[in-house]
Amino acid sequence: MASNYDVAIIGAGAAGMMAAFTAGRRGKSVIVLDHAKAPGEKIRISGGGRCNFTNIHATPKNYISQNPHFAKSALARYTPSDFIAMVDRHKIAWHEKTLGQLFCDDSAKDIIRMLLEEMRAVHVDLKLSCEISELEKGPDGFRLSTSEGPILATSLVMASGGKSIPKMGATGFAYRIAEQFSLPVTETRPALVPLTLEPNLLGELSELSGVAVDADVACGKTRFHEALLFTHRGLSGPSILQISSYWREGDEILLSLQPETDFVELLKAAKRENGRQQVQTVLAQHLPKRLAQYLAETAKLERPLADLPDKALSSLSERIRRWPIKPAGSEGYRTAEVTLGGVDTDALDSRSMQAKTVPGLYFIGECVDVTGWLGGYNFQWAWASGHAAGEAV
Ligand code: FAD
Repeated sequence: MASNYDVAIIGAGAAGMMAAFTAGRRGKSVIVLDHAKAPGEKIRISGGGRCNFTNIHATPKNYISQNPHFAKSALARYTPSDFIAMVDRHKIAWHEKTLGQLFCDDSAKDIIRMLLEEMRAVHVDLKLSCEISELEKGPDGFRLSTSEGPILATSLVMASGGKSIPKMGATGFAYRIAEQFSLPVTETRPALVPLTLEPNLLGELSELSGVAVDADVACGKTRFHEALLFTHRGLSGPSILQISSYWREGDEILLSLQPETDFVELLKAAKRENGRQQVQTVLAQHLPKRLAQYLAETAKLERPLADLPDKALSSLSERIRRWPIKPAGSEGYRTAEVTLGGVDTDALDSRSMQAKTVPGLYFIGECVDVTGWLGGYNFQWAWASGHAAGEAV
């Protein structure tokens, strides 16, 4: 005999748990199934263990999708303030770091505990280490064959995330289910991911591994101004993760290091004031020492300023202001924070997240073709889309 529920949710991540207690509060009987041993594993590791759970500046402009209007409805109906109110109700201490990013003071586990408490309060059943082998729609609803036995549910919510970090159990299962029901899935690719460099360039930059610098990073018309980190594989840091969602193979990115500093003026003034200073010494007052040394060395300007024509100082400054780099690739799903693309929003109703052609089937969170910037936007999408489906099932 199958266990009967109003709603079955696949995935006990951010979106799935939000949808579960939202539906539970409406009196629906809900079961959440996850093949992982613990719920909310990505929440646990997020934000360096402190979970950047939302961004107070979140608007639809902070999301990438083939249909930029799709996210508007859900985001408007469940806002960062709504989530903050729940966090406050659970007495979880938080702080704003930068750029509207909110983090837990103590631990991301507080957020998982809060979501589990909300589910418990409305008697949501949670089955972990549960494998779903088959799933089909019949006249009486969705029939799931699982390692916990057969389950029958009137509505099915796919909240199984994207392909990022397969080591943590990411499977792309939602895309397979979309295809099973003939729903389109847009091209998926790793996003918010470090970029790699070809071996020659990597060798040239090897001495910079571990150096962080404030930078403006542009790809085409898109630019982000945040920290950049040189790594032993290539480039990382928030500005690179952000631009990686827009970068495509073959594209060049343009780095502007410490963009608020006028290096031409700085070098010329230093030359006037004390021409015996070395270029790298002056640069090191505004850039990390190893980077200053590298820039002076590769420009072959490791000399006192007085020995250098202004033209040389201008071209060095131009290099710092406009440094083109062609990444070779990205670190891929192994380290990507999210998956770009997913279940085509054209196939979903933006108010409820329900598939237009399959009544009762919903897709929420990362598996949908809505991808946020770095900075709490992806969780805000998970909460908002989870809430939209939870209100609709
Ligand atoms: P997930 O959280 O991935 O949950 C999906 C669930 O489905 C998982 O529990 C998984 O085990 C389960 N599942 C998958 N396949 C199956 C299957 N076949 N059967 C059963 N269960 C299945 N975003 C932010 O906004 N702020 C941050 O600070 C932040 N930090 C991050 C740090 C890291 C290292 C990573 C990887 C991501 C980070 N993100 C952050 C992104 C954020 O974690 C995701 O956007 C968010 O978790 C997506 O929620 P989701 O519920 O859609 O999917």
